[in-house]
Amino acid sequence: MSTTAPAGVLTKPRGLADLLDEAACRAWVLETLHPRGAHCPGCAARIEDATTLKNFWAGRRCACKCGRWFTALADTPFHGTQLSYGQICLIAALADIMATGLSVFKISAAAGVSDDTARVWIKKLAALNAGRSPI
Ligand SMILES: [Zn+2]
Repeated sequence: MSTTAPAGVLTKPRGLADLLDEAACRAWVLETLHPRGAHCPGCAARIEDATTLKNFWAGRRCACKCGRWFTALADTPFHGTQLSYGQICLIAALADIMATGLSVFKISAAAGVSDDTARVWIKKLAALNAGRSPI
């Protein structure tokens, strides 16, 4: 009997972005780009009908009464990007770390744990990475 994990269970992701929740990342990116809500980039009309709103926040194409077709990324710095929402979030997070440095507080906030929990796991993972037992 094999003691290894079945294929695909523990495969290394292509990048950290593969570990992120794409829907949560899309929500963060679109809410950051559109803090005043959904609008047509052509005529600036507020999007109010439920179907178009659903499509807008899902990142799908929308149509406006003015005749313009668009997505929530139209006329933003991400227009036409081939990046996933996870990749955009990861680049934003890493750029923040580059600009302001990394701390236990940022790690705890990013992981959604207390500062003390982050400190414990940083120590355990450092030991694991060094080839020692994390316990
Ligand atoms: Zn419009």
